[in-house]
Amino acid sequence: MNGCLLSEAHDLFRSQLENWELARNNYEALHHVKVKEFAFDKFSVKVQFNPARMVSTGAKINREAIATRPCFLCEANRPAAQEKVLWGNYELLVNPFPIFPEHYTIAHATHREQAILPFISDMVDLSRALPGMLVFYNGPRCGASAPDHMHFQAGTLDFLPIAGDYARMRYDRKRLAQTGTYAVYSLENYLRTVVCIESEKSDGVCTAFEWLYSILEPHDNEPMMNVCCCYVEGKWLMFVFPRRAFRPWQYEAEGNEQLLVSPATVEMGGILVVPVEEHFNRIHQEDILSIYSQVSATL
Ligand SMILES: [Zn+2]
Repeated sequence: MNGCLLSEAHDLFRSQLENWELARNNYEALHHVKVKEFAFDKFSVKVQFNPARMVSTGAKINREAIATRPCFLCEANRPAAQEKVLWGNYELLVNPFPIFPEHYTIAHATHREQAILPFISDMVDLSRALPGMLVFYNGPRCGASAPDHMHFQAGTLDFLPIAGDYARMRYDRKRLAQTGTYAVYSLENYLRTVVCIESEKSDGVCTAFEWLYSILEPHDNEPMMNVCCCYVEGKWLMFVFPRRAFRPWQYEAEGNEQLLVSPATVEMGGILVVPVEEHFNRIHQEDILSIYSQVSATL
């Protein structure tokens, strides 16, 4: 669609950091976030203490809360300082509450419900137009803080462990399906279920995704899932994390048992974001095992 989306995005990023104080402060703060790393057998999981993410991690996303708040992805409600780059039916925005060193939100130009199936080919095209970035989608019950407004996000590819883990753990892949245009694998020994679609053809990725979607357990509007996609060396890699729960019990717990972790793509991809310092200090290996086992679905 537009070959130069990436350079337009970079230009927007630079200009927003110059002209938008909220974004500048939050990206500057990212340089000082604390990170802990837990080593498992063949991979590690990071925990990032990021107080600016309280806005998302602590978000109430029940129907009443969503219906009564102004939608922050609709242009009319955005801060005056927030600029955009147009891409087809979408508007690319700098995410002012970042996790990644560069973090974008790509919102549909019209207010319509978050859903993956009708827009999967947009996600595939978007990852082709943003090389070096990971394009991701949070289902309406799997971490999207605007479940009423269709959007993707994109962040620096190498920042999230999933793609590197998948490349390194080649002996832990189990083939689920293969045709002339795509191959589908699951990654074993990874604490959570992840399925990877590989294809050199955009319609191959879409067809494989539609097949996977059809075998996942239905839930309200769509099977619970997080999805991320990148285009590397002439090939798409799409990672799908099937989910069975939105938040772990620790989210609602009280006192010393509470851990404010609200799993979405970033968490499933290997970085647990914690907005409360005391929770960050307390979180341990067993908590990570517990959280993944509660929210991840088996195939
Ligand atoms: Zn909206």
